[in-house]
Amino acid sequence: MSKVNLDLPEVAIRETRLGSITGYCGSAKELVGCSRCGKLKEGEHQFNQTIGCSVGQAICTVVLIQDAAVVSHGPIGCLGCLHEFDFTYQQNGDLRGVSSPTQRKLFSTDIEEKDTIYGGSQKLREAVKEVYEKVNPKVIFVATTCAVGIIGDDVEAITDELQEELGIPVIGIYCEGFRSKIWTTGFDAGYHAIARKLIKPAAEKQEDLVNVVNFWGSDVFGKWFKELGLRPNYVTPYSTVEQLEHSSEAIASIQICATLGSYLGAALEQKFGVPEIKTSAPYGIEQTDRWFRELGKLTHKEKEVELFLKKQKEEWLPKIAEVRSKLEGKTAYVTGGASHGHSLLAVLNELGMKGVGAAIFHHDPLYDNGSVEADALAHVVDDYGDVPNYNVCNKQEYQLVNSLNKVKPDVLLARHGGMTLWGAKFGIPSLLIGDEHFSMGYEGIVNYGNKLLEVIENDEFVKNFSKHAINPYTKWWLEQESGKFLGGKQNG
Ligand code: SF4
Repeated sequence: MSKVNLDLPEVAIRETRLGSITGYCGSAKELVGCSRCGKLKEGEHQFNQTIGCSVGQAICTVVLIQDAAVVSHGPIGCLGCLHEFDFTYQQNGDLRGVSSPTQRKLFSTDIEEKDTIYGGSQKLREAVKEVYEKVNPKVIFVATTCAVGIIGDDVEAITDELQEELGIPVIGIYCEGFRSKIWTTGFDAGYHAIARKLIKPAAEKQEDLVNVVNFWGSDVFGKWFKELGLRPNYVTPYSTVEQLEHSSEAIASIQICATLGSYLGAALEQKFGVPEIKTSAPYGIEQTDRWFRELGKLTHKEKEVELFLKKQKEEWLPKIAEVRSKLEGKTAYVTGGASHGHSLLAVLNELGMKGVGAAIFHHDPLYDNGSVEADALAHVVDDYGDVPNYNVCNKQEYQLVNSLNKVKPDVLLARHGGMTLWGAKFGIPSLLIGDEHFSMGYEGIVNYGNKLLEVIENDEFVKNFSKHAINPYTKWWLEQESGKFLGGKQNG
């Protein structure tokens, strides 16, 4: 178990904290085996096309907090990838009961060349004060970027001073892109800041409150928890500063994806006494049952959970069988982050489909809670069998393209924007679902199955598209092993 240390401004990066890797080529079963016996080693990429920056993930944990403002301390370009939050904001009509969500308040100190010589501290002070006056937030987060990390601005001292002066929390998030090769270190940096300076010790417990560490998915937990006599406290999108401050009063925490919530779940348990559900999120029948039973134990709702599961089975198992009969035997390739990508592999198998490969963006051998129960990939291998052609490739599209071309699945499932393009170029129907709660639980299997059917049956466009698409990758590359540039150091 990794020990959470909230005394330090920075969170330890995933490479050192969890032993996580970004390069692997083999099978899922071998990867799970390596992770359990200390043999997991990084397959060094000999070159990278581009990799995700952790600033985006750090800001993702705070930008949708209703009454927060975020200042990116760095060049304006470091905010470039954050336009996607506009999309995120608009795609989801279901804001969990929030009737008038506030605009996001995202700013940059716009560090320029001369600031890298004379320092950016003054610009940061002025920017934070201006943001405070203009948008009147209840908290201001300051996210650091490579440039200010290199010049060494003392962001911790400045934010402490400003907090004193303005009378609201002003909190540094230390997430410079160069800190880590693993993009999800940014999630940890954001949650470290929240746990360190925003969450307050619990004055009393709210016996029906359960923290749900998540992105911005639909309100499935509200519906489920109502039947169990519980309430979700969604952390952090669309929450308020006050809700976050009181998340220590919950009786349990759950995560929709251990990759996202690993650190905050552990921080809430270790520092605020809120136990977390260790088993991975409820995707697929077996895992949904395991997850609900653990929830029942932690919240003393065992009887309610058994009744709930019984009703779910009666309602949804016949519908799962129906959609399964239409998808049985189809093949699929998954690309996405761990562990949501693993969860999609579970859902595919419930639908009678075969996962014939995956390009997953990194791999954590264990999460911060140290429990093997949190390993969603191990659950997939144990519940449904091995997944061949399993790549860990840090969003390296050249590897995805190589693998897709060899495997030629019936459908490509993607979790991140931009990846479905590669399926379309090969004439492979491709599905991207942004709502990570869409495929959860029993009903999620039916939801996802119906979407898959729609996509597979309507393949005319991608078939035509592939006839005219230009593929930048040469025939030579498509014929190589997909792990060719992993320095010959593949695991397994
Ligand atoms: S923080 Fe560093 S890696 Fe991230 S966008 Fe800015 S310069 Fe690039």
